[in-house]
Amino acid sequence: MEVTAEEGGITTVACPECHTDITVSLPRDAEILSLTVAPEERPDHGANGASRPRDIEIPCSCGEQVTVFFDW
Ligand SMILES: [Zn+2]
Repeated sequence: MEVTAEEGGITTVACPECHTDITVSLPRDAEILSLTVAPEERPDHGANGASRPRDIEIPCSCGEQVTVFFDW
């Protein structure tokens, strides 16, 4: 997983498809769990100890919709 920060706020992540940096605005103290361009393969983070798993979609310049799963 390529994540440059895990403390929420304005966070830069790398698109899993093209590795371009994408800026995502997360709630403060959010913890990124994983990234995917295939949200239908949604991991069950709740079963892995995440207390309040959420997700947000961000369009990447390569045309993919990157889904960021985070716990907040
Ligand atoms: Zn991309």
